[in-house]
Amino acid sequence: MSETEGSAPSGGDRPPSVDALARDLADTGLPHPLLVDVARRAIADGDVAAARSHAEALGRALLQPVVNATGVLLHTNLGRAPMAVQADARYTNLELDLASGRRGSRSAHAASLLARLCDAEAALVVNNGAAAVLLVLAALAGGRDVAVSRGELVEIGGGFRVPEVLAQSGARLVEVGTTNRTRLADYRGVDADLYLKVHQSNYRIVGFTESVSVRDLAEAVDGPVVVDLGSGLIDAACQWLASGPPAWLADEPAARQALADGAALVTFSGDKLFGGPQAGVIAGQKELVDRCARHPLARALRPGQLVLNAMQQTALAYLRRDGMAIPFWRMVSVPVEELRARAASMIAGEVVLCESVPGGGSVPGLAIPSAGVALDGDRTAELRAADPPIIARVVDGRTVLDLRTVDPADDGALAKVLCAL
Ligand SMILES: *Cc1c(COP(=O)(O)O)cnc(C)c1O
Repeated sequence: MSETEGSAPSGGDRPPSVDALARDLADTGLPHPLLVDVARRAIADGDVAAARSHAEALGRALLQPVVNATGVLLHTNLGRAPMAVQADARYTNLELDLASGRRGSRSAHAASLLARLCDAEAALVVNNGAAAVLLVLAALAGGRDVAVSRGELVEIGGGFRVPEVLAQSGARLVEVGTTNRTRLADYRGVDADLYLKVHQSNYRIVGFTESVSVRDLAEAVDGPVVVDLGSGLIDAACQWLASGPPAWLADEPAARQALADGAALVTFSGDKLFGGPQAGVIAGQKELVDRCARHPLARALRPGQLVLNAMQQTALAYLRRDGMAIPFWRMVSVPVEELRARAASMIAGEVVLCESVPGGGSVPGLAIPSAGVALDGDRTAELRAADPPIIARVVDGRTVLDLRTVDPADDGALAKVLCAL
């Protein structure tokens, strides 16, 4: 292969200079130093013509909006709950008490609203659900015994394994009961310092099973009962929805009810059923929340003002009972007929009924009736290559685009891509 094979922008027999090649790619919008990297690589490979596709690949690896047509509402690979963020460059009263002018508390805004929502004495916001569990265990049970049912020693996707998180916290695991059956007598038989109940989230044990409710456990044991809810349903009554709790929610445990049943603390994610940004919430008894906040790990796990602001916005929407202001709850509430009409307006593809799922490790096995567009064959690679990238799934050899997870504002762009396919 000759050194000049391909279309060297400078022409001639010699390969272009790195700088000239990089400048020729300026229209990709990438900063010059990144273009220098791809130009250098293409020249070193003797394949100058590949520089542009290297640059495009680099651009596509950067974080960018995508159209979620998978029908999975809380898709971990797509950032779980969609969330608008206020992007103004402004200072905030993050840790300033505006009344006294003295140093304030990071828990005075989002966290206190979350406590109000769960009817808890106090709450603390950390980086994610895993951080919430880790901090609770480290602060309240480091070096001490934590009882967990063998049926709840679960792995949630992405490497969150309850026994491993527990070991990292410095707490000692005391296994209770069996995989399918755990009774109150099993918990009574151990003398633990803390009792952890974990929502099985993304799987179900069915058949010959038995487990202990939060209420029964809290009444029977001396130590605090901590419930890792994971999915973050705030209140089983769903008062933020005009039509009340939807059928697909079934028996999903909720923060407010777990605390009312006697849990000393609950932990959950901000970006699952809560519908906020990536965050973790610890809510419950003030004395225990304060101990978590004082632990040295709390500093390493605390979120910044962007996240606290987004959590505050979401909490305020719940308190106003305005579920339609929370993108997740707005999307799950759209009637199938409306989705079907949107699918028909796409012109391309066949209008189909399909099923969306909540995802995010919440409510396994329950589907939400939906509608979308189907194309023959597997077209997912072409759709991902579109601008904006469209993420769809293949069902029985057909590509299905579920419109429940697509923002109506993206319908025009989607229709254009579908017609062009
Ligand atoms: C999702 C989940 C977690 C982890 O939460 P992240 O926000 O993903 O860190 C922990 N526990 C349970 C039960 C979960 O469902």
